Amino acid sequence: MTHANDIGTRTGAIAPDLRPAGTSQPALSFQNVSKEFAAADGTRLEVLRGVSFDVPVGEIVAIIGPSGAGKSTLLNLAAGLIAPDRGSIKVMGQDTRSPMDWRCVGYMFQDDRLLPWRIAVRNVALALEVGAMPAAERLRRAQDALELVGLGQFANAYPHELSGGMRSRVALARSLVGEPRILLMDEPFSRLDAQTRGSMQREVLRIQDMRHVSILFVTHDVEEAVILADRIVLLSPRPARVRRNIPVSIPQPRIGTGAAVALTAELRASLEADTIEEISA
Ligand code: ADP
Repeated sequence: MTHANDIGTRTGAIAPDLRPAGTSQPALSFQNVSKEFAAADGTRLEVLRGVSFDVPVGEIVAIIGPSGAGKSTLLNLAAGLIAPDRGSIKVMGQDTRSPMDWRCVGYMFQDDRLLPWRIAVRNVALALEVGAMPAAERLRRAQDALELVGLGQFANAYPHELSGGMRSRVALARSLVGEPRILLMDEPFSRLDAQTRGSMQREVLRIQDMRHVSILFVTHDVEEAVILADRIVLLSPRPARVRRNIPVSIPQPRIGTGAAVALTAELRASLEADTIEEISA
């Protein structure tokens, strides 16, 4: 898969290619996944009902759906933070309930979660502190990750010295520093202004093209899903089922193209129809 980008030339030759050789198994696979939570009043809240979809290796899959449908819950299941009630989730072919090496999965959250008392490079290095890697090596890799996102010059800056977009780049570097095969992204740019959001979206496409990391990207922004994704999974209102699973083959860059605008409008109409259905049910 190739994404055009407007940031720089392709530098894939120097980046590790994380594609497993000779395998067609998906990076991430949800098979008939159901999940309930206990609601505050003690009743059961059915969040996911029989959800199945795959994230093929090296692709970006975006999940869209009404607020509260269970999008973040899908990411938490993929990260092994919670377990499904029924069905299974496989990460690089391995069931998340079996013992596995979670370093192959990176997670980027809606808020940047930077520690204010740590300079940028030490915030990035934090993601490597669970292992036995020597401190100097952690810092070297963190510096490399900052270079990757174009922030090498700001390694010694504290979070309060950085703009929102730069902080977002530090958070992206932290999610990439362990060289994950799969990146889970939970509305990571929703707090940024439109211009900064656009530049972060281009950054994701550029890095994804270099690293061939497989990405599961949750967003409430339909246009963002259309700009980024190779495939869009549209969830129904809770209990969420997969309403649509749409491959997107519009060439990059997509922003503002007729095909992207038309797909965005069509998906918004699908989402609105679901909301109306829910209100009248
Ligand atoms: P979305 O990301 O689509 O907005 P979430 O996955 O965050 O939705 O949440 C889906 C529903 O599950 C919400 O009603 C939320 O309050 C509930 N929920 C999520 N996690 C928990 C939890 N650990 N315990 C109880 N309820 C939860």
